[in-house]
Amino acid sequence: MTTPAMIKVDTPDGMRFDLSPEQEMIRQTARDFAEREIMPGARDRDREARFPHDIIAKLGALGFLGPTVPEEYGGLGLDYIAEAVIFEEIGRADSSIRTTLSVQISLTEMTILHWGTEAQKRKYLPKLASGEWLGCFGLTEPGVGSDASNLDTRAARDGDHWVLNGRKMWISNGGIAKLAIVFAQTDPALKHKGIAAFLVETDTPGFSAPTIHGKLGLRSSNTAELVLEDVRVPAENMLGGIGQGFRIAMSALDDGRFGVASGCVGIIQGCVDASVKYAQERHAFGQPIAGFQLVQELIADMVLDLEAARLLVYRAGYLKNKGVPNTRETSLAKWYASEAAVRAALNAIQVHGGYGYSDEYPVERYLRDAKVATLYEGTTQIQKLIIGRFATGIDAIAPK
Ligand SMILES: Cc1cc2nc3c(=O)[nH]c(=O)nc-3n(C[C@H](O)[C@H](O)[C@H](O)COP(=O)(O)OP(=O)(O)OC[C@H]3O[C@@H](n4cnc5c(N)ncnc54)[C@H](O)[C@@H]3O)c2cc1C
Repeated sequence: MTTPAMIKVDTPDGMRFDLSPEQEMIRQTARDFAEREIMPGARDRDREARFPHDIIAKLGALGFLGPTVPEEYGGLGLDYIAEAVIFEEIGRADSSIRTTLSVQISLTEMTILHWGTEAQKRKYLPKLASGEWLGCFGLTEPGVGSDASNLDTRAARDGDHWVLNGRKMWISNGGIAKLAIVFAQTDPALKHKGIAAFLVETDTPGFSAPTIHGKLGLRSSNTAELVLEDVRVPAENMLGGIGQGFRIAMSALDDGRFGVASGCVGIIQGCVDASVKYAQERHAFGQPIAGFQLVQELIADMVLDLEAARLLVYRAGYLKNKGVPNTRETSLAKWYASEAAVRAALNAIQVHGGYGYSDEYPVERYLRDAKVATLYEGTTQIQKLIIGRFATGIDAIAPK
């Protein structure tokens, strides 16, 4: 049988289906850490909505807060597949922590790396990669989410500063971050071409970030509103130029969606692992429930979604490593993996019967945590419209 053209395993530029020894070592390190340090307290942190500063500090010491940041800026200099593997393993253990990492790495560090000046990179990346500082990404507003070109937050030039006013909503890490990337409109007449991105140190007067309580899931992650009242930002803290803000946001989401998709692969893996173990141990009608075909179907459906989601994620990572456009592939991975994680969590609850409905087992948390992945960093509907744009050439969500 001949090898299909796109499957060029182990060629220098081909797509690999196995991990390199370095990536395998990263997986083992991440898995050991997750099982030892993250999983045991996940239920209590979820119950208490408690942010795990201690675990985040340990992840920083491991280098896992800056895996794809080049070594010269204090990171590990790893590739995107290694990053995906870290997100998978952390996502399998606790999506609240995976979200903190995603925002830190994909939305904050990678955005500064891709768009920042040399001075901005040297000033901020080492602090972020080590975990000394946490970062956040402020795009969404109380009145604007999917339609990110219509921001209400305003930036007005005043000498060698910009003055920011407005509110941001649902900002992960917002209440604990020392650095916020804030998107604001500099001139409403320019519409999306007037948007700029600013690096805002959160101890700047006029900046506050009340935490949002009562979330369905991600309870031990921090989600906050950002309130900006005459916040003065030095002009050199603009990221990119005026008019580049919208492009910066969209390119950041290309990175961010990859992290979300990888984390969802971890959730699905967690669902399979928990369900297989439970089905082998739980007896009904005189035998392990794993022997019932309808239970096997629930698990087999999860396994199919796991393999498909992981392949989509690794393909997007492979394109990112090559530095070629990957919006379409990343969007497909995020759409599929997030919806598949919700399906897998529902199946996992079913396998666990009544016990699946309580937090004695992790599967109900998997469901609550998976759902947000179909919402943030572009809802499933927005991913469909991105794919529809690539398929038809018609952009249904072009900024107006
Ligand atoms: C826990 C959590 C953490 C988050 N973290 C961050 C963060 O760190 N930074 C950040 O900036 N944001 C963050 N968000 C915000 C998130 O990205 C937005 O909630 C999301 O983009 C959707 O925006 P919205 O909530 O305003 O919904 P809307 O845009 O108002 O959408 C409402 C519904 O309408 C649908 N819809 C909208 N437009 C269309 C269309 N053109 N066609 C079809 N359907 C459409 C949507 O799919 C959705 O179903 C977070 C959200 C949550 C819940």
